[in-house]
Amino acid sequence: TNWGFRGSWVLKMIVVGRSAVGKTSLMHEVVVGRLPAITTLNYEFVVFNYEIPREDLVEQDSKYASLKLPEKVKLKYQIWDTAGQERFRNLVKSYYRGTSVAFIVYAINDRDSFEDVEYWVNDLEKYTFWHKIVLIGNKIDLEDLRVVSYDEGKELADEYGFDFFETSVLKDIGTAELMPNISHPILKSL
Ligand code: GDP
Ligand code: MG
Repeated sequence: TNWGFRGSWVLKMIVVGRSAVGKTSLMHEVVVGRLPAITTLNYEFVVFNYEIPREDLVEQDSKYASLKLPEKVKLKYQIWDTAGQERFRNLVKSYYRGTSVAFIVYAINDRDSFEDVEYWVNDLEKYTFWHKIVLIGNKIDLEDLRVVSYDEGKELADEYGFDFFETSVLKDIGTAELMPNISHPILKSL
């Protein structure tokens, strides 16, 4: 975590998972609300701001009452994406450096991408301290092609102690609540 509180907390976040599961789509169309402006060259990040009123924080946990906080507390996510290096499973160490939040994404119509989750968990566990890891089963609009059930995803997430969500970036299902849902617990743990 980049502490240094100057009105906002900055968190580095990464999105990992097998190629073509929808990682880039997820971070741009959902988190930023637009398509990528340019093609990812090597690595790039986008910034997502989550704002929460000070009184809401204090209400959740009295420890915030003693802190000098602004009216609105900002959680600034710096979300990193790759240009497809995940295809070769060679995400460099610096990509992980300083990261504390991760999305591991698979597609519910791609069994291999689900089997890959274990690899990414192992890769993540080699590095840093994690505030939160979230498992995401994407492409639920492709229900007819589903090969990974909701329960399988949920069970795996529970095993690792991760949050779990199913989404469709294409149809905007389950995506809007993603960042708010993870932000409150993260703020509490800061
Ligand atoms: P990445 O390789 O993991 O970054 O995946 P991309 O974001 O590049 O997406 C790969 C393909 O999946 C693209 O053609 C996307 O349009 C498509 N895609 C992404 N999300 C969804 C989804 O929720 N449903 C469907 N049907 N397609 C999606
Ligand atoms: Mg991508």
